[in-house]
Amino acid sequence: MSYTPTRSDFDQYMVPNYAPQQVIPVRGEGSRLWDQQDREYIDFAGGIAVNALGHCHPVLVEALKAQADKLWHLSNVYTNEPALALAKSLVERTFADKAYFCSSGGEANEAALKLARRWAHDTHGAHKDKIISFRQSFHGRTFFTVSVGGQPKYSQGFGPVPGGILHAEFNDLESVRALVGDDTCAIMVEPMQGEGGIVPATPEFLQGLRDLCDANDALLIFDEVQTGVGRTGKLYAYMNYGVTPDILTTAKSLGGGFPVGAMLTTDKVAPSLAIGTHGSTYGGNALASAVALAAVETIDTPEVLGGVEERHALFRELLEAINRKHGLFKEVRGMGLLIGAQMADAWEGRAKDILPLAIEEGVMALIAGPNVLRMAPSLVIPEADIREGMARLERAIDRLVAQG
Ligand SMILES: *Cc1c(COP(=O)(O)O)cnc(C)c1O
Repeated sequence: MSYTPTRSDFDQYMVPNYAPQQVIPVRGEGSRLWDQQDREYIDFAGGIAVNALGHCHPVLVEALKAQADKLWHLSNVYTNEPALALAKSLVERTFADKAYFCSSGGEANEAALKLARRWAHDTHGAHKDKIISFRQSFHGRTFFTVSVGGQPKYSQGFGPVPGGILHAEFNDLESVRALVGDDTCAIMVEPMQGEGGIVPATPEFLQGLRDLCDANDALLIFDEVQTGVGRTGKLYAYMNYGVTPDILTTAKSLGGGFPVGAMLTTDKVAPSLAIGTHGSTYGGNALASAVALAAVETIDTPEVLGGVEERHALFRELLEAINRKHGLFKEVRGMGLLIGAQMADAWEGRAKDILPLAIEEGVMALIAGPNVLRMAPSLVIPEADIREGMARLERAIDRLVAQG
């Protein structure tokens, strides 16, 4: 490159739909990142729950390089070995009988919703088209998925929204009972709301949704785009709850940083995505599938999954210690390595103010809505990095509190 890009190039050359932080990371290793000035950061953001094995994990780098020398892409006019191996691996590790591949979480959900509508249409008729989802939920940015998502600000101003979508209250079965019926085609839910503020579903709620779906011959769709692939300490969050969906979507950690998504389903439902009903040029891309296979096989092991709970406990302990000093948070919650700290009333709406100070202190974190500080680090983040990153976060919070 003949010039060194700067942050101001973002404002000059890119559509203004994001507001990135000022630093530009150029290199990563494990749970550490370095910027253009070679300043080092500890990464508690994990590319928004994507870099499940940290940056440049040797197993993923090796899988990528090995496949890069063989074959990158064919399209679905042909199948390929990595895609078939990934499908077999996911089916063998989960409730599913069949997999569909795409390149993102939004696409996986788009496929899930289209499959549910098509299945209901095929098996029951056109009247069975209602999709129930939840306020504050997030399912992606395609027009169907923002409409099913429970944050109207993401779908307003884009013209007529798709119909047949009803929103209930998360963790409130009565609000679902009021909407569900013979015309319900599917209920879509995140086992733990991510963007909506790191809110785990209660076991009774998910089991209640399963029962309502069974009673009304509707499909239960779990959006595990953020909770999947080890994030909660099991391969998928549904395994913690013992409640099995009919369709599950997965992306983010699935590729460990390579763009890939999948929809998993059963032999009861899959036939409705018959030849020609749906597709994606990149779906099952050989490079993406090879990396995802390596990620899944590395993560779904006692060594990786077994370490998630103790890391969760350490994060919680250190966050609560910070909180004893300042009372900045009302509640610390989450599962595994998806952790949220809700701001106290006096700090309402100010979670985002922590982020630039944290970066100045050398640690990257996230928010989940205006009131929740979120962390979604690597599942294999070393204890020393957790302690050092939390010390840096504490200094950032000291400064925020001093500023007021
Ligand atoms: C991130 C996310 C999505 C969207 O995934 P993209 O890859 O950004 O399309 C969908 N659902 C949930 C629960 C997510 O967290």
